[in-house]
Amino acid sequence: MCNNLMHNVDTVCTSSPSEAAAFIRDGRLAAFPTETVYGLGADVFDPNAVQRIFDAKERPPDNPLITHVADTDQVHTLARAIPSVARTLMDRFFPGPLTLILPRHSNVPEVVSAGLDTVGVRMPDHDLCQQFLSACDTPVSAPSANRSGRPSPTTWEAVYDDLNGRIDCILQGGRTNRGLESTVVDCTTERPTVLRAGAITLEALRATLPETTVEAESEVQARSPGTRHRHYAPDAQVRLVDDPEDATPDEQHAYIGLEPPAEPEAFGRVHICSDVDAYAHALFHFLRTSDASGCTAIYCQTVEPRGIGRALMDRMERAAGLR
Ligand code: AMP
Ligand code: MG
Repeated sequence: MCNNLMHNVDTVCTSSPSEAAAFIRDGRLAAFPTETVYGLGADVFDPNAVQRIFDAKERPPDNPLITHVADTDQVHTLARAIPSVARTLMDRFFPGPLTLILPRHSNVPEVVSAGLDTVGVRMPDHDLCQQFLSACDTPVSAPSANRSGRPSPTTWEAVYDDLNGRIDCILQGGRTNRGLESTVVDCTTERPTVLRAGAITLEALRATLPETTVEAESEVQARSPGTRHRHYAPDAQVRLVDDPEDATPDEQHAYIGLEPPAEPEAFGRVHICSDVDAYAHALFHFLRTSDASGCTAIYCQTVEPRGIGRALMDRMERAAGLR
């Protein structure tokens, strides 16, 4: 997978979207902010550049990439057809944190889709990102800009920690405002099917398309093979607790949840979130900053798996190695 890795690249950090876009047009890699998490991008039509994303991240080759577009015209260069449910979802949710799985156009290199006959497409809702994508003048394939398996980056500094020396450029925006990845919906099936829970809730999708379904885990793994790999894990052990009292106080332990643990002052780090949206926004950042401060265990209080809580539970269960 990563035999000829070059880890001595000079990584340029810039706040200029046109400077970052010049790297993409030059067949190189640039990380950039979106409203969900930071992405690591390459020109979708340059298979060598796309391959370098897999190398830099050490990403398993069977995990396809989402391709980011600046406008709906670019969708037609990526998909050989746009099913009517996809049109409906694009009208309602683009730009936004929703990825549509569409039939892959033959122009799209196989490496982008990990050999699948489909392509994942999304239009981010983020000013700096949109300026960057417009300046790239090509759709940009980009998974999250972390080393494979680690929590997704919600700040440019987190990208730097994982990928400095492995990628050509980081476009420096602020902290991302959603903090969790896009929802992935397969539009090539009879009924639209959620393959990954994310920032757009199932309830919101069903308000637009009531027939939207959620696949069983085994079916998702067949249609989105990368989902079976380890994801979102910090170095510290993640432990899920329904009841905050079940978190063991220790100065090397961290705690995040909606309610405080029994002895908050006995933990090394504690973060209480005002609601589930704030929790979703904080999770990845908290996992990374707890690692950086040397915590050995991170307790996460569970939430009801509805609304954004469904995506939050998915990420926490994966971080804990339960899925
Ligand atoms: P990441 O950008 O690292 O958060 O991962 C991209 C997500 O989109 C993964 O869950 C992929 O499995 C999913 N994905 C991207 N393209 C496709 C596709 N063509 N078919 C199914 N899932 C996809
Ligand atoms: Mg990822």
